[in-house]
Amino acid sequence: MTRKVIIIGSGSAGYTAAIYAARAGLDPLLFAGVSVGGQLMLTSDVENFPGFPNPILGPELMERMKKQCERLGVEIVAENVSKVELKKRPFAVETTEGKKELAETLILATGASARWLGLESEKKLMGHGVSACAICDAFFFKNKKVVVVGGGDSAMEESTFLTKFASQVTVVHRRDQLRASQIMQERAKRNQKISFIWDSAVEEVLGNEEVQGVRLKNLKTGKTRDVECQGLFIAIGHEPNTGIFRGQLELDSKGYVKTDARTRTSVPGVLAAGDVMDSLYRQAVTAAGTGCMAALEAEKFLQEQES
Ligand code: NAP
Repeated sequence: MTRKVIIIGSGSAGYTAAIYAARAGLDPLLFAGVSVGGQLMLTSDVENFPGFPNPILGPELMERMKKQCERLGVEIVAENVSKVELKKRPFAVETTEGKKELAETLILATGASARWLGLESEKKLMGHGVSACAICDAFFFKNKKVVVVGGGDSAMEESTFLTKFASQVTVVHRRDQLRASQIMQERAKRNQKISFIWDSAVEEVLGNEEVQGVRLKNLKTGKTRDVECQGLFIAIGHEPNTGIFRGQLELDSKGYVKTDARTRTSVPGVLAAGDVMDSLYRQAVTAAGTGCMAALEAEKFLQEQES
């Protein structure tokens, strides 16, 4: 059986696309992947999603979107898509578990993943004090010293969250100015437990079994210094999850799926929504918006094929 639409990804973009596709009678199948719920599962309070006067936890928001999909009859499969065939229609989709499906239209909503520094010592101590998710791991650092790398909203959010547990949070940033929004910067700078080390990069994570510190290099003076900490949180942005699409449709220079203003990719019938195609806004609400657009475009594409 060929499906009318398959959605790959279960973040804000994927679920919204599924809601619209279901209401349009397209009987969508959604591959939720192994990291069900996308990046909002790694977020604490969301206070900028309209309709929630009080902050809502990221995982709860995603659970609500999932329930909304289920109520509308979306078929959700919690498998990871490992292969897509975009050269001919219907498009073929295959999961790591071996499930194979065909679809007239595809909505790519695979999001983006945390970026790492790329150090050997970082890799070695991953899960032993090195983390990219404060929300998941902060609890393990009660009364401990932690270092957060990055200067964006994620770094500010993670640092602020970590102060609920850690005794001291040091933000290490490679420049002397933060990229984060004003409100997030101010919140972090006001917090007594947070301090900043500017113009510096982590050269090495110290420790054999567990993190014991970081060796920092001042990028202006070249001087190195060791800072004691038991936890290292990397918050330096994200990479789009486009590996399985590479070579089959157009990507931009950063690896994000290229779309026109209507979420249409370079392959007719393939739409993209959310962080996989948006390196600029990357918000839950913009992902939901493009998810909606992609579903409406899928419907339009199918109608055009019929007429
Ligand atoms: P981001 O805005 O891209 O910031 C990444 C930060 O990491 C930058 O400060 C960057 O330094 C630094 N960086 C990048 N690569 C590095 C490397 N190899 N070594 C050291 N530092 C490195 O990413 P983000 O903070 O994850 O935010 C992504 C998007 O999500 C943004 O649009 C943000 O507004 C949004 N967001 C919003 C909230 C919220 O409102 N609650 C929370 C989290 C994220 P430079 O500044 O020098 O480039």
